[in-house]
Amino acid sequence: MRLINKLALGGLGLVSLFSSLSVPDNFAQDRCKTPSVTQPYEVRTAYPNQEMIDGILKDLEKVPDPLQRRASEGGYQVSIVSDTRNINTRLFNLPEVPPGANSAETKDGKIIVTFSPDVDVPETSGRASVHVSDSSDPNAPTIYTFPKKVKYTGYFDSATRRAIIPQTINGDNTTLHEYGHLQAQATGSVDETGEFLSVYRASEERREAQVERYNELNLKYSYWETGIKTAQEGRYRTINDVPVQEWIKRYALTPEELEEFEGVKSLRETYTRPFYEMRTPTEFWAGVFSAYYDTPKSRVALRTNYPEAYNFLHQWEQMYAPGCQ
Ligand SMILES: [Zn+2]
Repeated sequence: MRLINKLALGGLGLVSLFSSLSVPDNFAQDRCKTPSVTQPYEVRTAYPNQEMIDGILKDLEKVPDPLQRRASEGGYQVSIVSDTRNINTRLFNLPEVPPGANSAETKDGKIIVTFSPDVDVPETSGRASVHVSDSSDPNAPTIYTFPKKVKYTGYFDSATRRAIIPQTINGDNTTLHEYGHLQAQATGSVDETGEFLSVYRASEERREAQVERYNELNLKYSYWETGIKTAQEGRYRTINDVPVQEWIKRYALTPEELEEFEGVKSLRETYTRPFYEMRTPTEFWAGVFSAYYDTPKSRVALRTNYPEAYNFLHQWEQMYAPGCQ
């Protein structure tokens, strides 16, 4: 790609673009979790934001080294791109859309990316389906039409073994979710096995109990909130004939209940969303993977609500990263 060569000649250097920050020659002595220097990632943006990249690497550091190294040796990588529009350009092997440029729009359910005339886009463009350009005008922009609308916050491309993470994601579990897809494929598509299908089915059954418990705690919590609000306003002395202070006491969650409530809430809203991550075994795997590695709280919530899934993850981890946790 000429774009890359131009920038490289301009002194930026290839390393900062298509980084070889990944796969160092000598790995540090085996530890379960080491700083991101040994981790498998490539920076595929001409506009790297180190602070945002560090946030992504911090999430990756939660996954034991042996797992990361194994995947890296199998040709799997995390590919950090500028923003969500560049998931497309990464997938179709095109130059990136510059940040801030109004050069990607959705039309008729397709993504249209327009490159300025000075960008020399490759003739063969990977999997981009349509290439339209006005050949009569030398200054005409090059336009690519992508075959599908992409709404992802991240993407795992199984063909190229890349988890594509926009550096602009902030604070959600996208990195660990996509890295979970990557790890699943790197360990023999574990998410598609009969064993995991059984776990998925058992978890679907568990979900009902989980929803019931969530609703119970949520109701208690909202009654408690109503009491607090009423007390602050000072307009009523009772709620349903119960003195306000007594009402507040009655519906206050114990510290244990509060922790449980927050755990189930984050599990439902972030990691294993009923209408998304619970949709297929593969998506459930990615949700479970991210809950397992994200925080101690999310791991406890996973263990409490989906013990089969938790145990499966734990056994899987011990197989590929024995002794780590
Ligand atoms: Zn997914």
